[in-house]
Amino acid sequence: MLFLQLAECFEKLEATTKRLEMFNILSDFFKKVEKDEIDKVIYFCEEQIMPPFKGIEIGMAEKMVEKAISKATGKSIKEVEESYKKLGDLGLASEQLLKKKQVTLIKLSPPSIKEVYEILLKIAKTTGEGSVDKKIDLLAGLLTRVSAKEAKYIVRFVLGRLRLGIGDPTIMDSLSQAIVGDRSLRSEIERAYNLCSDLGLVAKVLFEKGPKALKQFKVQVGLPIRMALAERLASAKEIIKKIGKCAAETKYDGLRLAIHKDDGKVEIFSRNQERMTHMFPEIVKAAKEQIKANKAIIEGEAVAFNDETNEFYPFQVTITRKRKYEVAERSKEFPLVLFAFDLLYKDGKDFTKEAYVKRREELEKTIKKGKTIRLAEKIVTDDPEELEKFFELNIERGTEGIVAKRLDAPYQAGARNFNWIKLKRSYKGELQDTVDVVIVGYFKGKGLRARLGIGALLACVYDDEEDTFKTIAKVGSGLSEENWIKLRELLDKTKVSKKPARVDSLIKPDVWTEPKYVFTVMADEITHSPVHTAGRKGNKPGFALRFPRIQGWIRDKKPEDATTVKEITEMFEMQKRVKES
Ligand code: ATP
Repeated sequence: MLFLQLAECFEKLEATTKRLEMFNILSDFFKKVEKDEIDKVIYFCEEQIMPPFKGIEIGMAEKMVEKAISKATGKSIKEVEESYKKLGDLGLASEQLLKKKQVTLIKLSPPSIKEVYEILLKIAKTTGEGSVDKKIDLLAGLLTRVSAKEAKYIVRFVLGRLRLGIGDPTIMDSLSQAIVGDRSLRSEIERAYNLCSDLGLVAKVLFEKGPKALKQFKVQVGLPIRMALAERLASAKEIIKKIGKCAAETKYDGLRLAIHKDDGKVEIFSRNQERMTHMFPEIVKAAKEQIKANKAIIEGEAVAFNDETNEFYPFQVTITRKRKYEVAERSKEFPLVLFAFDLLYKDGKDFTKEAYVKRREELEKTIKKGKTIRLAEKIVTDDPEELEKFFELNIERGTEGIVAKRLDAPYQAGARNFNWIKLKRSYKGELQDTVDVVIVGYFKGKGLRARLGIGALLACVYDDEEDTFKTIAKVGSGLSEENWIKLRELLDKTKVSKKPARVDSLIKPDVWTEPKYVFTVMADEITHSPVHTAGRKGNKPGFALRFPRIQGWIRDKKPEDATTVKEITEMFEMQKRVKES
């Protein structure tokens, strides 16, 4: 299929503000896509050259793209810059400049989706000495072969600014619709996706081998698994009432990591399925020495730990280990300890279907005693008082609390349910837990803030049933002046002219932005609100956060990993119970 057809599909998607229309446009398009190109189409829709865990990025900054446009159009860099300044979008600039040129262009054979993808992948894989010029030449070469419309989308894609606003759930629904004519395959597609984190691969298998092949998807060393997540309850008593006798483990406050050991090779993935192997050399080394298996996948929480005092460093210290440079120095200064809490695969056996007790038992057999990898501390009890004591002990030690685990539960990739229940510190007069919100726009600010050009953020939670973002708060505190300015600059790069298709809002901010950045906010309580759309149904009002304030900085979560409307509803109910008691 020609890339032009994909560009035309993007054009239609861009013109709509409704998710249902997006779904129809996408599923109609998928029906026409060939088996051997569907994976590439999916990556284009996901706005990535490959899934993040492959660690492959195009790596072209604006200046490089401007040079490529200049080369392809014969215009000077100055002219390209001026056009960019005028239009505010390098994609549009390339479209305009190419339109002018194409009158005199001899039309070469227009490239297919596969050809465009291969060239972009080549650009991504070009590294080392002289790579800047090579990348520019490759992109310029591609731009001379395409129409103005295609150039617009290619340039935006290269810069990571396609901004189509399609989420994975919409893609999965559309794939199902394209193959079986309804959404019934969605859960099978999702299950496979949760096990390999590569939607392109899942779509390829589906298109080439049919729906039955999806059932055979298994965990595989090297392919990150979307992590199982925890629900919340308000007290130890509620936990025992809900799941009875259970295991409770310390909830360490660090970075959740999945360690994949494949004979002599070790890979480390984040909660977001990003490859982080190079950041944690001490864990790579320990995995080789302490994991007694040729192949294994284990999960744990990595925390900077002071061996002298036998104390955890605060999260702010652990997070400094997430860095590309000075890795070796930092690993000596603040070495990590990985508190292992799960085992998902070992030497040919998929453990995800096994009960927690079995997985934990195997984990204990698999980890050799050592300094860097240790087992997460745990108790097993059916006594609320004992559970409460364990919780208090953990709070005293400066951890986040506990995670209670259902003894007979399998590991459900990508699911948040009561197989795991977190119990966190209760802040007096505050919500029991923080909320992760997605920013979808900002207000310019009055008074003192007008100087910064930003006064408050429009924040949403995620509705995973509808695949939409629903507003829950206007957040105007928690950042330093410096960070407000930094954030405005970042948000301006994701500015869009109208409300994004997946955002559901009754409020109109001064500037709409693509739903991209996730922040953790603390609030006093959840209240009903007539102005917010989270939880709103017919005449029933939505929910709002009272006195929301930002904690920290942008989180390493995707917008779809933000707190969901369902969680907010449960937190509201939980708050009611706590108040009553
Ligand atoms: P939070 O911000 O509260 O950590 P989250 O959305 O990142 O929430 P949840 O699934 O809600 O993740 O809470 C479980 C998280 O707690 C895990 O993602 C993991 O990072 C962390 N954790 C720490 N210790 C454990 C443990 N023993 N078992 C499971 N998860 C643990």
